[in-house]
Amino acid sequence: MVNIKGITRKNVLEMNPYSSARSEYQGTANIWLDANENPNETGLNRYPDPLQTSLKTEIAALRKVDTDRIFIGNGSDEIIDLLFRAFCEPGKSKVYIFPPTYGMYKVSAAINNIEIVEIPLTEKFELPSFEVIQTKVNAPGLLFICSPNNPTGNSTSMEEINKIALNFNGIVVVDEAYIDFSEQESALSLLNENSNIIILQTFSKAYGLAGARVGMAFSNPEIIAILNMIKPPYNVNTLSINVALEVLSANERIQWQISKIKQERKLMIKQLIQLEIVKSVYPSDTNFLLVKFSNEELVFQNLLKNGIVVRNRASQIENCLRITIGTKTENEQLIKLLKAI
Ligand SMILES: *Cc1c(COP(=O)(O)O)cnc(C)c1O
Repeated sequence: MVNIKGITRKNVLEMNPYSSARSEYQGTANIWLDANENPNETGLNRYPDPLQTSLKTEIAALRKVDTDRIFIGNGSDEIIDLLFRAFCEPGKSKVYIFPPTYGMYKVSAAINNIEIVEIPLTEKFELPSFEVIQTKVNAPGLLFICSPNNPTGNSTSMEEINKIALNFNGIVVVDEAYIDFSEQESALSLLNENSNIIILQTFSKAYGLAGARVGMAFSNPEIIAILNMIKPPYNVNTLSINVALEVLSANERIQWQISKIKQERKLMIKQLIQLEIVKSVYPSDTNFLLVKFSNEELVFQNLLKNGIVVRNRASQIENCLRITIGTKTENEQLIKLLKAI
């Protein structure tokens, strides 16, 4: 088991966290005169709950984890940054990433002045062998596994994640932003065995709330407590908490949308592979497809001219565009245009 205090930044262990009015008094009252709020009701004149207890209770039920194992951030992007600030010491720690992958890990590392060690995925976009990873990992810090991975769409097995975590003196971050579109198991099942895994999920993709900025992290209570110490006191606003609660109460609708998107994904793959301009469509556990074209720039520009914007990933993966699964009509328009090209 990793000694969490041993891998936490010294200044974080030694600091006094900000104590807000709402964290100092959490009981009930008739009259609130402790936070310098405007007493006139606007629906938003009160500060939000700093620990988002109501939302955590619902997430705990949905994901079957205890509330003290949950952290909520202003998007997963905020949580990624907090992890650097809690568990990376500039000049000492390193961050290990497996490109091509999500761009924020590198950006957050750069902002926090942490050395980045890139260990490229194999040609099939799988993690390199455990031995290869071991030769590169020589300092504490963070190791990011994005599974399912953005932009490649595939997943990493629980066995691989478990083995890496058991042999790493740092925090393994499993980014599961797309887990709801996947048939693969969530790494939540590894939390009991490993003290050094943190799993990121988000309301931005399957739950349809990219604009609300609500990200989740699941880990052991010790890591969650450290994140709570360093987060901005009111990091998730009342509107976002409420809309996330609303969406969770309509989970059946969300599950229906997810199944529709997966159906569309299947249909899109079938249609795309029939096109001459398409070289390959990579398997996907997500709500997007990575597609290799014979001339991706021509396709990209042609789509753009017709008002359809996809993501050009050619700088990361040769000749590839990343295409999000849209509504049925949107997908039909895309396929129609591609056929014309
Ligand atoms: C979209 C995405 C996220 C989501 O970030 P939020 O800040 O929660 O919107 C996180 N990780 C990956 C890999 C993503 O693709």
